[in-house]
Amino acid sequence: MEKLHQTETAKLSIVSRHGNTIVSTEPLHELEHADNVAARLPSVLQTTLELDEMLNLFDKEIRQVVPYDSFHYQHQGVQCDVSTGSSKAHSCNYRLEMNTVWLGELTLTRRKKFSDKDTQVIEDLLCKLIYPLRNCLLYRQSQAAALEDKLTGLNNRGAFDASLKREIGIAQRQRTPMSLIVLDIDHFKAVNDNYGHSSGDKALQALAKAITNTMRTSDIAFRFGGEEFTLILSNTDVEAARLVAERIRVAVSQLTCNDGKRTFGFTISLGISQFKHGENCAELFDRADKALYQAKKQGRNQTVCADNLMSKDN
Ligand code: GH3
Ligand code: MG
Ligand code: MG
Repeated sequence: MEKLHQTETAKLSIVSRHGNTIVSTEPLHELEHADNVAARLPSVLQTTLELDEMLNLFDKEIRQVVPYDSFHYQHQGVQCDVSTGSSKAHSCNYRLEMNTVWLGELTLTRRKKFSDKDTQVIEDLLCKLIYPLRNCLLYRQSQAAALEDKLTGLNNRGAFDASLKREIGIAQRQRTPMSLIVLDIDHFKAVNDNYGHSSGDKALQALAKAITNTMRTSDIAFRFGGEEFTLILSNTDVEAARLVAERIRVAVSQLTCNDGKRTFGFTISLGISQFKHGENCAELFDRADKALYQAKKQGRNQTVCADNLMSKDN
């Protein structure tokens, strides 16, 4: 992970609401308490690399110097939104940037107008936030990259394991339905053999796009491995999951891929299981996987639900 140090020369840009750019400044105030906070701030902020936690520490520290009602930090790129307190009429707003790298936007509000001295103190302390903020953002981005499948841009197997565990926990505690779809490309080996490996890769990317375009916003899609994908559907019973699966299956059957010379299509088979209270991740996955195997056995390009299998078997 790239680290930035306080000694490194960097152009800090903190643009206030009124558009004036403040470049890293010498302390501009005489408040004794502000000096103490400014002195300890770097070491306090360096105690964590977790973005939300670091911002909470910053909030707690600067409140002691310039009292305010609400603190709001937002960075859409890393999906971070930290808010404390409720917003009031007067605000100071800062767009944070370093060497053209966007570091987010901070807004403080309160009932009383912020004086020039208040904003000077805040801006002085903001200069000390920039480097820890940059490090936390890099850490957060590297964590996200580790959970992403590079070829398709979907979440990867590691992300799937963690998400399934979390979603099972929620379904178990809240007694809500939850379903899992496992899908696999039919005769994918033939796609690679006939059109080449890079066309196979293009087919995987087209499949990922079709899944994300077709699934609901509450569903989470993963590339489980090779040509096998999974979807976690929270708050969804097996019948509703079957509708989602069928929509994806039909959308994929209508896809056309082009390798520059030829156009080809492919189909997928899908297995579904609905979470049964008390079962673990492996058991839930195993039932969906068996349903997928059944779909392959029955002729491919179809969806099979584990619960239907059970009722047939029983
Ligand atoms: P079935 O309908 O039974 O699933 O048949 P299949 O040919 O899809 O199944 P099989 O497991 O025999 O083959 C899967 C193929 O997926 C073999 C492997 O080369 C290919 N594959 C796995 N990962 C990738 C990848 O990242 N890119 C490409 N192009 N091919 C991949
Ligand atoms: Mg396959
Ligand atoms: Mg497979």
